[in-house]
Amino acid sequence: MARSLFTSKGSSLHLRENQRFLSDLLSLNSVHFPQQVHGTNVVVISESEQEVAQADAVVTTLRGVGVGVIVADCLPLLISGPDIVGAVHAGRRGLLAGVIERTIEVMVEQSAYPISTFSAEIGPSICGRCYEVSQEMHDELVVNFPALSQGVEGRRLNLQSEALRRLREGGIVSLRDVEICTRESEAFYSYRSGDLIERQAGVISL
Ligand SMILES: [Zn+2]
Repeated sequence: MARSLFTSKGSSLHLRENQRFLSDLLSLNSVHFPQQVHGTNVVVISESEQEVAQADAVVTTLRGVGVGVIVADCLPLLISGPDIVGAVHAGRRGLLAGVIERTIEVMVEQSAYPISTFSAEIGPSICGRCYEVSQEMHDELVVNFPALSQGVEGRRLNLQSEALRRLREGGIVSLRDVEICTRESEAFYSYRSGDLIERQAGVISL
């Protein structure tokens, strides 16, 4: 059974301190965060001392080793199977570039279980009422990815609905969105509300 958590404001920590704080909190040997670049690279942690390079998803089959991402409006996505866990940083760019599909691919390669036994959870992130982009970008994106316009008005994008669609198409049946908007909730950092440096974390471990 995987353990996971999303931090909120108040754990205003930098990455190194975050790692120690979170590994202590979850009684883990270590927690690994990637150097996020809004891409589709997935790193597999195969030893607890391993340094994580540039990537937007981290996966491990090791017990007692956490993987995490840091976000402030982007989607922190945690995926777990019976013998594997993964953390994905899914902002608009990485999401549309295929970081979710790539993570599922790697997790299936590494796991002995079928993807239908996996579950996924979307943590606090900017919602479709609040995520406004330029008209041009909006129009171009919703033509290719209609789920982005699900339930939202004007030139806004629903990243959660696009992420859920991709997870479902990837074969994950058990899906959950915590449905907390970082822009609207005072409890979370939001880049669009002016939190340019501080981030919250999503962490998961076996
Ligand atoms: Zn919102």
